[in-house]
Amino acid sequence: MDNFEGPKEECGVFGVWAPEEDVAQLTFFGLFALQHRGQESAGIAVSNLQRIMVYKDMGLVSQVFDEATLKSLPGRLAIGHTRYSTTGASVWNNAQPTFRATALGGLALAHNGNLTNTHELEAWLSELAPSEHVPEKKTMDSTNDTSLVTAIMASFGDEPLESVAMKVLPRLKGAFCLTFMTERTLYAARDPQGIRPLVLGRLANGWVVASETAALDIVGASFVREVEPGEFIAIDERGLRSQRFAEANPKGCIFEYVYLARPDTTIAGHGVHAVRVSIGRKLAEEHPVDADLVIPVPESGTPSAIGYAQGSGIPYGQGLVKNAYVGRTFIQPSQTIRQLGIRLKLNPLREVIEGKRLVVVDDSIVRGNTQRALVRMLREAGAKEVHVRISSPPVQWPCFYGIDFATRAELIAPGLTVDEICRSLGADSLGYISLDGLTEATQVPADQLCRACFDGRYPIAIPPAQAELLNLEESK
Ligand code: SF4
Repeated sequence: MDNFEGPKEECGVFGVWAPEEDVAQLTFFGLFALQHRGQESAGIAVSNLQRIMVYKDMGLVSQVFDEATLKSLPGRLAIGHTRYSTTGASVWNNAQPTFRATALGGLALAHNGNLTNTHELEAWLSELAPSEHVPEKKTMDSTNDTSLVTAIMASFGDEPLESVAMKVLPRLKGAFCLTFMTERTLYAARDPQGIRPLVLGRLANGWVVASETAALDIVGASFVREVEPGEFIAIDERGLRSQRFAEANPKGCIFEYVYLARPDTTIAGHGVHAVRVSIGRKLAEEHPVDADLVIPVPESGTPSAIGYAQGSGIPYGQGLVKNAYVGRTFIQPSQTIRQLGIRLKLNPLREVIEGKRLVVVDDSIVRGNTQRALVRMLREAGAKEVHVRISSPPVQWPCFYGIDFATRAELIAPGLTVDEICRSLGADSLGYISLDGLTEATQVPADQLCRACFDGRYPIAIPPAQAELLNLEESK
């Protein structure tokens, strides 16, 4: 539920090639639309065709950039990034885009996702011939997998980046949407499973790539198509060139539909808001209850609550008011404030909920602490009954492809029955949508989705040590 203690999205990427536009400003607005995908750091790399400048810092997009900073970044092409740390700590060095000098100039790179074969890649990096650009032992200036890819790409001497990328990309395993650039060319690539979304858009005089279609809308770009899984794109004054570095084997992340993507984004031809409404309708079918009012946990529970109300015929209303700015500040709350817990984020509308039998719709339960506090708060505000409905199945497994749910030990679902979880939350009833119901609502065939956090079937091999730790073989 909305980054309070819920799943944390990995990153958002953006790229633009538009010689006649203010590309730094376009990138700023693109990142602004992708802020929900990462709120720890933001950065932009821009090139005026001669040299690349990178500006990045910790904080939200609007905290990192102001008018003066953007004006100091003139150029013809740019990439940008918003980060939530999945690999490597949340420190400045791990902010993106990363930058490296190569034999041919500069290379800036931004990554959304998480690689699963970093050990292999580290070994490969140390095998590659030493070069002045990737110094002795190739010591990394940061601990993230993005720097590793940048360092590998910079290790190929004066070989053109386009051919270097066709050697490097097939060796990356895991989830990756990359935008990268040299002084003259913008590049984008998406892993063969297409775990994370990446789309291509057209400006009157240029091209845009972005994590979500909502970022195309905000900069006035029209949607052209998705970057295909396994596709590598280059854009410069010669136009757009597309190559395939691997066969597509689509396994899009089902959690993008549940929670991660913006509701006004379109994935695989389906609007995310509409999918969430239809998840809510299915939830009403699967877990009906006699009640007076359906309320969402705003904002992420809203579309499914609308769907639940439509499916059940129970009136829909707003019973909770959200403080939209909580979770978007770097000021750590004091102990006194922290004790207020959920009230920092949500406040009940007593006059709406008093004496009512409520259906409360939320997108997921990770640890359960938030929902427990929520149920208590609604009862204190006078709710007669509280029936919790969740628009995703129980989260049973960690994600290795860029989402931070917490460790398996911290998840509430493994080892507990739904009844036990319901009791632990203090709710009158609890219903999760089934995995089949959720899959049907996305309208994407099950074999083209990653659903591993719900069923433990990881479509891309996870590091052996992790698989052993999770005892995966037994789980299936
Ligand atoms: S494990 Fe879950 S969150 Fe991670 S990519 Fe797969 S479906 Fe998405």
